[in-house]
Amino acid sequence: MNHDQSHRLFSRAQELLPGGVNSPVRAFKSVGGEPFFVERADGAWLFDVDGNRYIDYVGSWGPMIVGHNHPAVRNAVSQAIQNGLSFGAPCPAEVTMAETITRLVPSCEMVRMVNSGTEATLSAIRLARGATGRNRIVKFEGCYHGHGDSFLVKAGSGMLTLGVPTSPGVPAGLSELTLTLSYNDFDGATELFQQYGNEIACLIIEPVVGNANCLPPRAGYLQHLRDLCTRHGALLIFDEVMTGFRVALGGAQAHYGITPDLSTFGKVIGGGMPVGAYGGRRDLLSQIAPSGPIYQAGTLSGNPVAMAAGLAMLELIQAPGFHDRLAAASNTLCDGLEAAARDAGVPFTTTRVGGMFGMFFTDQQVDTYAQAVACDIGAFNTFFHAMLERGVFLAPSAFEAGFMSSAHDDAVIADTLTAAREAFQVVAAA
Ligand code: PMP
Repeated sequence: MNHDQSHRLFSRAQELLPGGVNSPVRAFKSVGGEPFFVERADGAWLFDVDGNRYIDYVGSWGPMIVGHNHPAVRNAVSQAIQNGLSFGAPCPAEVTMAETITRLVPSCEMVRMVNSGTEATLSAIRLARGATGRNRIVKFEGCYHGHGDSFLVKAGSGMLTLGVPTSPGVPAGLSELTLTLSYNDFDGATELFQQYGNEIACLIIEPVVGNANCLPPRAGYLQHLRDLCTRHGALLIFDEVMTGFRVALGGAQAHYGITPDLSTFGKVIGGGMPVGAYGGRRDLLSQIAPSGPIYQAGTLSGNPVAMAAGLAMLELIQAPGFHDRLAAASNTLCDGLEAAARDAGVPFTTTRVGGMFGMFFTDQQVDTYAQAVACDIGAFNTFFHAMLERGVFLAPSAFEAGFMSSAHDDAVIADTLTAAREAFQVVAAA
């Protein structure tokens, strides 16, 4: 594959943008090499500026659940822009969006639209702190909730559960308020709540972790967290920025039958436009300005063009059987990848929940962050590049989930598996 134009653009971009990108993972730092620059996208495909095409399992990191450039979404946006791009005053589509979200996700009695997943999670923990009058929050190692200060935290050493900053610029005084837990560890959560229970405003979790590869919850784990939060008066926040409208129409909370107090969304509800949302119990959301004292605002929030794109997307995914077909496609892909790895003698396993999946270079079943980190990252990186050369774009990091779309039909998956059989041979020979 020729990448001359991408290389030229990346060289220029590196002089102008930090690392040449506007969001770090795009820079291919963890897999090595240079990113390709996209000219256009259609269905399951990305087309780069050098004329190469790739089957895309990144899907803009989740929003493209019906494939790229879907005509229904594009037409909705085209129509919306005829009427202006932003009003700074209420518009009808905001009400329709709120009606749609509250109907599809019953735990959300009210919602507030924002412009990104980061804004959604930041706002949700402010609400939790404001509503409970408590300052501590609990998060999980390997879960990502955007780049808000309180989330850029890792567990302190030894017995210390108080968080320490993972980024310069995050005040230690703030990160100390973030307690960290190991995902899928029942006892750790029980003990933490025993120690800090009455100081904890909220526990925030990706109900299926999509930022440490893809880790599903152990049976009963989310219920265990629900029970701990209820018992100790802490709010349970499901960060469904990835899982929302993807692992099931009603998100992970519908899939696992757990009712959180607050939920955060992004990606799918924007249809590719910059959109996020948080929602939950009416008595909590009523405390947000202007109906209550907890402040949160946004000039572009509920933007008419973004609402149009999101509504068109949400319409499409309500087609009967949509999520069953998505899950079946994930299963076909993951079963095929496992068979190809076995044939090549490469230790490899997968996880899948609805339209999300994970790939692990190990002979163990994986459902904890420690296990995900212990996988053969070098093998993943070799596989990533071998797939890319064969026209398949996987997330450029061993710690990201893969995303399925309804445009990934049998032929696309068959082509992916043809590439994978060769790519696993490359891994085996490395
Ligand atoms: N929460 C989760 C679970 C995410 O995966 C992400 C981003 N991938 C975010 C929050 C932050 O969203 P955004 O990048 O839109 O700010």
